[in-house]
Amino acid sequence: MSRITLLLILLSSVSQAQDIDFLKSRIDSLCAPRYHGRGYVENGDVKAASFLQREITAIGLSKVQDTSTQPFELGVNTFPGKMSVSFDSQELKTGVDYIIDPRSMGLEGEYKTFKFKDKWIDDRKKLFKIRNNPKLGERAAVIDLRESSEEMKSFANRIGENPLDVPAYVILTPDKLTWSIARRTVDFALVRAQTDHLEKDPKSVTLQIDQEWISDYSAQNVIGMIPGESDSMIVFTAHYDHLGRMGKDIYIPGANDNASGSAMLLDLAKDYVGSKPKHTLVFIWFAGEEAGLVGSRYFVDNPMISLEKIKFLINLDLMGDAGKGITAVNGKIFTDHFDQLVEINTKNSLLDEVKARGVAANSDHFPFFEKGVPCFFIYTRGEYMHYHDVNDKPENLTLVKYGETFQLIKLFAESL
Ligand SMILES: [Zn+2]
Repeated sequence: MSRITLLLILLSSVSQAQDIDFLKSRIDSLCAPRYHGRGYVENGDVKAASFLQREITAIGLSKVQDTSTQPFELGVNTFPGKMSVSFDSQELKTGVDYIIDPRSMGLEGEYKTFKFKDKWIDDRKKLFKIRNNPKLGERAAVIDLRESSEEMKSFANRIGENPLDVPAYVILTPDKLTWSIARRTVDFALVRAQTDHLEKDPKSVTLQIDQEWISDYSAQNVIGMIPGESDSMIVFTAHYDHLGRMGKDIYIPGANDNASGSAMLLDLAKDYVGSKPKHTLVFIWFAGEEAGLVGSRYFVDNPMISLEKIKFLINLDLMGDAGKGITAVNGKIFTDHFDQLVEINTKNSLLDEVKARGVAANSDHFPFFEKGVPCFFIYTRGEYMHYHDVNDKPENLTLVKYGETFQLIKLFAESL
């Protein structure tokens, strides 16, 4: 062993506790253009998985069943190419003025518009008449949610059929635009436009939407572990996938959701490595969460570790701003564990508030919960409001009380 190697080992064993610079740089990396928002265009999530594999190799996590990945397939709707929407030849800003509905099909052309009236929803005769009107059949239907009934709002939110048999629907909404991922498509183009800066209703809409349905996209979970004194396990999880590209020009970075949790998992792994913990520690970065918990469901159906041996699982998602504290989903179920979490927080004066919630199928802990694995899903609460949109980017992330959150999770895991 050279002196330099010895020095490096000594230095690395000194590095303790959370490392905010490390965290920030990993969040920046995961949100970089080369990972395309960790979605399905340009294989963004696959490239992010390779990045995570390199990271856990560098950190020194052990393999699980001789590997660090678990591949699985899913079908997804994607928008890899051209993406533009104009109202009366005025081009809208993608991701800001409008989003494409994740289930939309592709379409190119200019379409005159007509308004879809509230009273038509339940009027089968009228709908039939419109469907058979050749003039309207070539137009785009506009659904204006600014003055519409609750019925129309719920209709517009779940629109899946093509009640008017038109090529496109444009939904005008005063609400925040929130994007997602779809594992099915509709047979028309579907645009949601924000009305804050809309001067007048569009008389025509010009669409250029490239869409591609991928039936067998190959994604992968990433996994590593630190063997402990016993084979009972504490499992830390976070999804690294996000929404990817909305056309070739923009992508949704997902800094809070969930580059923050993914990077925190790396930080925890880095902190624990080199120690011999009481329980074996397993770290899993899931793919396909935004598509409906696909990666974690695949994992529990094809477990690489014995689910019975999991003493407790901690899922981290949205870890970017703990200014007001954290919430533990399942805190009202596993009350002894929750009391322990609160006690540790109070004793060490860490976060302002630790809240409990009941059961929720809102992140990757849930498939484990369904299989009887005791678990929390922990997310932070603060001022940060960007969610599933173009502004959820590293420069907006505050990372308030990151160190305190890290400490709390670590002390809690060690108390198990
Ligand atoms: Zn998330």
